[in-house]
Amino acid sequence: MSLTALNRFLADNLFYLLLGILLLNMLQRRERAASANKRLATFYLAVIVLAWMIGTILIVHFGLPDALQLLLIGALGFAAYHFRVQIWPFRRSCLKCGGPLSGKRILYHEANLCENCEVIPPGPGGSSEPGGPGGSTGPRGPSDPA
Ligand SMILES: [Zn+2]
Repeated sequence: MSLTALNRFLADNLFYLLLGILLLNMLQRRERAASANKRLATFYLAVIVLAWMIGTILIVHFGLPDALQLLLIGALGFAAYHFRVQIWPFRRSCLKCGGPLSGKRILYHEANLCENCEVIPPGPGGSSEPGGPGGSTGPRGPSDPA
């Protein structure tokens, strides 16, 4: 597939990827257990895909050099890597026992713990903050996109 064809394909189809991510974000909104950080993560993902889509459409529409796509992917990839903790808080296995997590838990639950591990209360006298790895100092609060 040539770079030109790739750009055309992306310009035509990135919209559906964006739509899928926004749909997921809406589902997270509906789910009461959904964590704010994971909702923010799908929001950031949507922003990155939107930037990718707009950039690609500009390249195709104005007949810009196709190699700009590589620059675009590089720049967005760099940004995504830099903010990877915020953008990708999802884990496929339980942080405590390593067991597999259900799709719901992956998408909605903050702690990335399986049913068994989450039910068990934290040890006596311990702080109630599990202090998950990955630095849960994500942006929270008034900047929550509505
Ligand atoms: Zn577990």
